[in-house]
Parts: sequence; structure tokens; C-alpha cells
Amino acid sequence: MPDLTDLLRNADGPVRLKARWVLPISGPLFEDGEVAFEGGKLTYVGKARPDAGALDLGLAAILPGFINVHAHIEYTVLRGLLEDMPFFPWIRALTGLKTFLSADDWITSASLGAAEMAAAGVTTIGDACDAGATVSALASSGLRGTVFREVFGIEPSPPVAQTLDILKRQLAQMTSTLVRSGAEGRVHLGISPHAPYTVRAELFEALGDFADQSGYLQTIHLAESPAEEALFQIGGGPFKEMFDRRGIPWEIKNISPIAYAKQSGALAASTLAVHCVHATDDDITLLANAGASVAHCPRSNGKLGAGLAPLRALKARGLDIGLGTDSMVSGNSVDFFEEMRAAVYGARAREQDTQALTAKEALFLATLGGARALHRERELGSLERGKQADLCVVRLDGIHHAPAGDDSPEAALVYSARASDVCLTLVDGQAVYDHSRFPTLDVARLRQSVGTTRKKVRMEGEKILGEANQRRK
Ligand SMILES: [Zn+2]
Repeated sequence: MPDLTDLLRNADGPVRLKARWVLPISGPLFEDGEVAFEGGKLTYVGKARPDAGALDLGLAAILPGFINVHAHIEYTVLRGLLEDMPFFPWIRALTGLKTFLSADDWITSASLGAAEMAAAGVTTIGDACDAGATVSALASSGLRGTVFREVFGIEPSPPVAQTLDILKRQLAQMTSTLVRSGAEGRVHLGISPHAPYTVRAELFEALGDFADQSGYLQTIHLAESPAEEALFQIGGGPFKEMFDRRGIPWEIKNISPIAYAKQSGALAASTLAVHCVHATDDDITLLANAGASVAHCPRSNGKLGAGLAPLRALKARGLDIGLGTDSMVSGNSVDFFEEMRAAVYGARAREQDTQALTAKEALFLATLGGARALHRERELGSLERGKQADLCVVRLDGIHHAPAGDDSPEAALVYSARASDVCLTLVDGQAVYDHSRFPTLDVARLRQSVGTTRKKVRMEGEKILGEANQRRK
């Protein structure tokens, strides 16, 4: 096998790759298929052409790069520290540990997360980012994404205008980082009012107006946990107890978090609602009427004991839905095959019906569904002439695929593939992962830096971690 990274970098004219399977997602798959691209855009997708000009990848599948619509790559350094805890103490401990990270710590942590995405065949992420470091990580890794700057503000002060000013300054800083690194076409910005239990109504309203005026997408964690439900439906539970301790005013709402978001002006076509685990039929109507899209994170929701989103009902209402791995603190690893399986198994278990989500539909959620949820389906999410050459190559010659790789590629990809089967990930036709190598990132150095940060977090966060450990049974 020639050095693909160099070959792609120095290509003078179209690059042609062929493989046993090509899955465009937007149309029927091709056995013995070929994709070609030039200048970062796809120029051919179809049956392999008979001449010898294409590089043969053998028993593998070429498919669009995965679109991970909900992640927090900045938290990679915290993986494995907060385990087996209920949602409320988990998010409180996470908030505490975050305070020990410096700007450089955030960047190395986010960059290691970006490397893991690339190795898993993910080419685009929708990242909710607290420190702005995701922008640097995407710029240097070569990955594509929409970076949603998080906003918090449940307490009556500071005033909304002040929070908005800070947000605007942060976005301007992120924009200049992107322009400096030439990544402004590849990485878009958005905003993330964090959740209805961390953002008060008047701030939601102002952020919704700001998103409208500026054309930003917004992503909001909604209807995730039973603790959040308890706060809104009955005005009780651990969030209410914390508000009482901190003197934060809270009136009983008697409505669902999604209805509350709607009331606060936070539901719009620009809204990517994350989780929606506890969405009722009425909530789903609100989401559908607003034209909002949904990030489905079944592994994170299961691990945090949050519940299982009503995927079939969301799908039936025509909402754009993508899959998200969430942060490494709740999802722990980036493996889109596992995420697809969790979506399929969860939907089928919930509905007691094997048709609740098929393999083909899971592949759609992981690619074109995600592109739609991030409003980037015109350029991403499927292999079609004119779209960006963002793709991944998945080996189907492992023993765990035999013999499905030979004749049942969709079954192999959804039911037996693993992230380690990904051998090549391209963004704009350039390698971001190539047979265990990371052409854009020094992963050995990143691992070392993240290891040092980890020691610091363990030391400075000893008290928080000690309390967290006590919550484990
Ligand atoms: Zn999240």
C-alpha cells in the first residue's frame, strides 16, 4: 500500500479509490464501487470503472464520514474519573473538575478527542464547548465541525446584556483563531444555551434572538434526566435542593422542559435539541412545529441512567435526527458502530419491534441524518458528486465480519464493525487518519500532555473525586 497521506496531499488531478463496497447512503450501494475526488470535492461515485487508475482498497466499505452531532471533546482528559454516579452528582462533580483546567489543558484534551474522532471515521462533529478549545483542536486536526459556545446563567445576575457581551467577545476570539488557521470554511460557529436548569428564561429568550439575528445554530440539552424532569414537573428533586442552598429563585413550572424551552423562545429551526429522552408526544409536536432537530445519544443516556429517547416517535414526526457520542465523561469512547448498535437495540427494546430502527436507518442517522441535524446536508453526509470528499474506509476482512463482509455490508457495518476497523478517514479529500497514523496531530505528545493534566486534576480535585467515589455503590 503506498503512503496514502502523501499521495492525497500531492495528488495532481483526481484521486480514485475503489473497494468491494461503496455506500453513498443517499442511494443504493455499489458492489465493486469507486469514488473519485479532486480539489476536496467528489467527482465520481459509482461502479468501479474498468481501467487501472483506481487504488484498490480490497474487502472494505467506503462510506461518508460519520457526523457526530453531539460531543464535548474538551472533556477527554476527564474520561473514567466520574463513573457509576447518578446524573445530578455527576454533573456537579464535572462542573467542579472543569475549574482545574488551564487554557492549554483544554486544547490538548480537545485535540486528543479530535484524534479519537478521526480514528473512528468521524469527519464532522457538533461540539458543545465551554472553553473555546474545540476551535483550535478542529483547526489543527483537519476535522470539520460546528462549535457551539456554551452559555450558562441560571442566577439572576449578571444581567443578560453582560452575558451576551461576553459571548460575543468569545465568538469573535474563536472566529479570529479560525481565520488565523485558515479553517473558517471548515469549522462553523454556533451557540449553546446549556440546559433549562442552567439558563434562566430571559437569557434563553435573548440567546434565541441573538441566534436569529446572527444566523447561528443553537444546541440545547433538553429533557435528559429524571432530575431535570422533577425540577420542571414538580419543582423538586436534587436541582431544586441545590437552588435552595444557593438562594437561586425557582417557581414551580408544571410543564415539561421542552414546553418550557418553547415558552422561553428557545425552540426554533436553528435549535438542535440534545437527548429528548423524556419527550412526550406533545413535546415532540412542539419540536416538530418549531422545525428543530434532535441529537440522539443512546450510550450516554443509558450510562447515566437517564432513560431511552422515543426514537421511533421522533422519527415518525419527520424530525432531523443525528447520533451523538456525548462527552468522554459519559460516553467514554468514540465508536460510531457502537453508537449505531445502541440506537438500534434501544429502539427495538423500547418498541419490542425489530422494525423500530433498521440497519439502513442507523447508517442514515450516523451520516446524512447528522448532516441534516447540523444543517449541512447540501455539502456533507452522503457520497454524491459535488459534495465534499469527507469519507471513511472500513475494513470488512476481519474474522468478526466473516463471511458477512463478502455479501452483507450493511449488516457487517452496523452489527459487527468496530471503530478499529476504520483504516482511513478523509476530510476534503485529505487524510486525518491513515492506517493507525495521525498525519495532522502529534498524538504521542498529546497523550503525554493529557497525562500530566490528568495528574493535576486528580491532585487538585481530590475532594470532589473523593465525594464522587462515595457515590459509587
Ligand atoms: Zn452534552
